[in-house]
Amino acid sequence: MALKGTDVVKKLPELGKKNCKECGFPTCFAFAMKLASGGASLDKCPHLSAEAKAELEDALAPAIKLVTIGTGENALQIGNEEVVYRHEKTFLHPTGVALLISDSEPEVAVAAKIRKISELKFERVGVLLKANLLALRHDSGDRSKFVALVREVCARSDAPVMLMSEDTDALFAAWEVCAERRPLVYPLTKDNVDRFVPKLRERPTPVGVRAGGIEGLVPLTAKLREEKLDDVVLDPGSGSLMDGIRDQTFIRRAAIKQNFRYLGYPTIAFPCLMTKDLLEEALLAAAFIVKYAAIVVLSDFDRHTLLPLLTQRLNIYTDPRMPLSVKEGVYEIGEPDPDSPVLVTSNWALTYFIVSSEVEGSKVPSFLCVKDTEGLGVLTGWAAGKFTGDAVAAFIKKSGIEQKAKTRTLLIPGMVGRIRGDLEEALPEWKIVVGPREASEIPAFLPVFAAKLKQ
Ligand code: SF4
Repeated sequence: MALKGTDVVKKLPELGKKNCKECGFPTCFAFAMKLASGGASLDKCPHLSAEAKAELEDALAPAIKLVTIGTGENALQIGNEEVVYRHEKTFLHPTGVALLISDSEPEVAVAAKIRKISELKFERVGVLLKANLLALRHDSGDRSKFVALVREVCARSDAPVMLMSEDTDALFAAWEVCAERRPLVYPLTKDNVDRFVPKLRERPTPVGVRAGGIEGLVPLTAKLREEKLDDVVLDPGSGSLMDGIRDQTFIRRAAIKQNFRYLGYPTIAFPCLMTKDLLEEALLAAAFIVKYAAIVVLSDFDRHTLLPLLTQRLNIYTDPRMPLSVKEGVYEIGEPDPDSPVLVTSNWALTYFIVSSEVEGSKVPSFLCVKDTEGLGVLTGWAAGKFTGDAVAAFIKKSGIEQKAKTRTLLIPGMVGRIRGDLEEALPEWKIVVGPREASEIPAFLPVFAAKLKQ
């Protein structure tokens, strides 16, 4: 947020002394504090003048604008970042990975790339990792070919698209074809801005603003802001990794530290233009994901380059204060019947995925009860009071496992064998068995345990 609560209150009616409570807050000051933290909206105060409202709206807007490319469930949201360093808070909207398709590429290569963007998906700790958009570039010099490529891609893929052409007429023709998909249209430059503005008024869509340096971006975004057409993605035209990191860092710092509105937009980087080596391209993209690019455009990728890139993105865009977790509940592994084993563990994503894959590897259909420990592992969860005997017992009672399983034997992680006594007291109808300390021992342990249960 650009303003603090103490600044906001001065803009409220009677310099924040009216205190009529109509907003639902006891004082103007309380309302101002909530506004500044993003917990309330301006329309709750009926006494704000139109002028004060407009001023506050502008001042309270995020330092980097949220821009949405595409529509529906595949839409890509970028921007709205609040910090320069990830340890200060968190990065919010993961970098969009774009796959470039040129209208000069043979049909078979185009078809392969369209397949790639829909097929190369990976699940990691419960999160689906995938590339996000197709960047369609006009290289052929033949407008009809570019439009045909856009048509074909839109017919065969529901991924958001970015349209790229130095020929503004070709760009506008392609834009007509897919306007309802909210494409990112690129580039808007000082030479074509006057043609863009009326077109954007008619068909609002995100636009990639390019200049040969950061200074050149400012007059363009100023003009678009004046026109209230500021779904903007910035391209400072960096030609190398070093220039790119410098430019991206400058833009992020100007937007967040200086609240410089004319650079308060998400950015794009083109590793595809910086090298011809695919592996090096992926490395450049990795650097830009860390250093603030909201979109990276790659000329191509395969499973071996995309997975590490997406994994790195996941790590960078995960809140460092919040461990990854899965939802509390009873998970069925295989097709368990009422006599199948019942295990309990914590909801740290890593714990869940390791334990569930070892149970799956044991080939014993089982119920895995996952207790919410706020993303802490079993031992840390116990130390934090979230995986104690009483807490686990309360969870087992409300989990619904007693309706699913007939057996009343609960297998607890060996790491927290010490909670057995408390659990036996809190769950008198259950027999508590201490399982292996390490998940890797489960495949050997579980078949023997399950056979004993059935005796
Ligand atoms: S409604 Fe407006 S004037 Fe009244 S207390 Fe809330 S902020 Fe103050």
